[in-house]
Amino acid sequence: MIYNVAQLMKSAPGTTLDVELDSDDQLDFSDVEGDEAAPAGPITGHVRLHRTNQGIFADGIVSVPMRLQCARCLKDFTTTLTFSVREEFFPTIDVVTGAPVFPLHSEEAFPIDRRHQLDLRDAIRQNLTLALPIRALCREECAGLCPQCGHDLNDGPCGCVVEQVDERFSALRGLLDDADESEQVG
Ligand SMILES: [Zn+2]
Ligand SMILES: [Zn+2]
Repeated sequence: MIYNVAQLMKSAPGTTLDVELDSDDQLDFSDVEGDEAAPAGPITGHVRLHRTNQGIFADGIVSVPMRLQCARCLKDFTTTLTFSVREEFFPTIDVVTGAPVFPLHSEEAFPIDRRHQLDLRDAIRQNLTLALPIRALCREECAGLCPQCGHDLNDGPCGCVVEQVDERFSALRGLLDDADESEQVG
């Protein structure tokens, strides 16, 4: 996911370079989402690098198999997230003169390093973070866990529903008992 763009930076604006993501590179995901989300396989994708007046615009589609935790049943599952990456990269050094280039006031942009290496990993990681579901579900109809006993309701019902009904009846019975008592007193 690191490409030398010296040649592209010497080219006229409008020139493009197509790159395939090489899946040997791993995304560092250690500081994001703790243990609940992690890449679970090789990253694939296709990115076109466009030479712009100031730098390079990267535009592509990336797929990452991810291990996520279901928000309902808390089990890990694997799903492939596919998302677009559209980010600007600016040089830190002039490719022809070697003079430092003053950083542009763009917090959105990524730097091309002094050896003219464009590193897509941070851009992919940021877009992957945005593509993560807020509530990941192992499947749309996941039944989740029983809030009382923690039983995985995907494996079948637990005894708690009956208990809930029993509690209602016992509460009702308590009321009736009170009524009986007050009648007896009266
Ligand atoms: Zn689930
Ligand atoms: Zn239960």
